[in-house]
Amino acid sequence: MRKYNTAELRESNYRHHYHPFTDHGDMRRKGARIITRADNVYIYDSDGNRYLDMMAGLWCVNIGYGRTELAEAARNQMEQLPYYNSFFQTAQLPAVELAEVLSEVTPPQFNRVFFGCSGSDGNDTVLRLVRYFWELQGRPERNIVIGRHNSYHGSTMAGASLGGMKGMHAQGGLPIPDIVHIDQPYYYMEGGEMDEQEFGLQRARCLEEKILELGADRVAAFIAEPVQGAGGVIIPPDSYWPEINRICRQYDVLLCVDEVICGFGRTGEWFGSDTFRIDADVMTLAKGLSAGYQPVGAVMIADRIAEILDDKAQEFAHGYTYSGHPVACAVALRNIRILREEKIIENARDHVMDYFHEKVLSLQAHPLVGEARAKGFLAALELVKNKSTRERYGSDGSTGVYCRDACLEKGLIMRAVGDTMVMSPPLVITREQVDEFHGLALDVLDHTLKGVGP
Ligand SMILES: *Cc1c(COP(=O)(O)O)cnc(C)c1O
Repeated sequence: MRKYNTAELRESNYRHHYHPFTDHGDMRRKGARIITRADNVYIYDSDGNRYLDMMAGLWCVNIGYGRTELAEAARNQMEQLPYYNSFFQTAQLPAVELAEVLSEVTPPQFNRVFFGCSGSDGNDTVLRLVRYFWELQGRPERNIVIGRHNSYHGSTMAGASLGGMKGMHAQGGLPIPDIVHIDQPYYYMEGGEMDEQEFGLQRARCLEEKILELGADRVAAFIAEPVQGAGGVIIPPDSYWPEINRICRQYDVLLCVDEVICGFGRTGEWFGSDTFRIDADVMTLAKGLSAGYQPVGAVMIADRIAEILDDKAQEFAHGYTYSGHPVACAVALRNIRILREEKIIENARDHVMDYFHEKVLSLQAHPLVGEARAKGFLAALELVKNKSTRERYGSDGSTGVYCRDACLEKGLIMRAVGDTMVMSPPLVITREQVDEFHGLALDVLDHTLKGVGP
């Protein structure tokens, strides 16, 4: 096996590489983890340590690491046609084919796609598209988009504005104008003594109140994730989405669903929209679209929007050099073919997800875990000081960081969102690997409890 000089790599990395979402002072003290290879559900660092990757990279490597078919697809496409654009009435084969396949696997109202490179630029496209939709119909004042506090829609100006992350809004003067936010359906921390389904309805009706406050004739769209991912795997009560569907229809507000995490099997169906029966007009895709093997994103456009776009026969003055990139599309196509041929989503749902839920929920017995929750292959553990009052250790997220570092020590990847530990394993994880996770998690929780005190 290849040897690496980790200390040298860390020093060079610290000196030259400015990282996203990283505290550089902290990184200098602890040193970056240098990941060198991966296989199946495991990643390996430059010192040869192995980690069980319960985050699938960043919620994206749904088919697992090491699928050589995807490398072959990229190589073949690079040899045939490494690049050509999709501007000015041009197309190339992988984009044509991927657009057709996406129309097949997404809910029936979606038969048109706009390609990009990521979830963030996808949501920029969504913002411009929904405003353009109303402009085309002579309603330019209908331009306000409603998002939710603590939702994540990416890091571009539009993505971070549509998202509801306070820490992101605090940097760079966000949100941009005419984007507003309503409360999230976070039952564990915000539901108090209320009945869960009642709470779900109440939080959905925050949308109706906001629309009435602004005037429906000012509201273009509502955007939300089926399950909030980066916000801490917040699974809405069952009552939430049907009410959101109703409100969007009643006030003719476009419903934009950000499926960047939930898409491609994460919730046990192909899309979160299938699981929660979300009746969306626009759908953002990325992450699982290529299982992270290539940077690619897509915005699905419902027929009723596509009709207006076609009818008015104008040019949508928007596009990326790499929209419909042939290599990225070829890899995404191969990924979707693998998902279909090997029935990866159905197998995960029918054979492993229930077992995973059982193991995750059993962790709620641990003194540190106030709530364990899961949907499909998304899960969260709420670390609290007092289970009955749901009191945290503090508000700085240091217990989560402690737990995350303990995970790394033991060869496990979980992510900390404040003091909420989140998971999103590859869909190919086996029951044996779930057992491995469970053993490691118990160990880590014990260690964390010792570290932070009862
Ligand atoms: C990750 C994520 C994005 C942003 O995608 P990038 O590819 O990182 O730009 C947008 N929405 C959701 C729900 C995400 O989880």
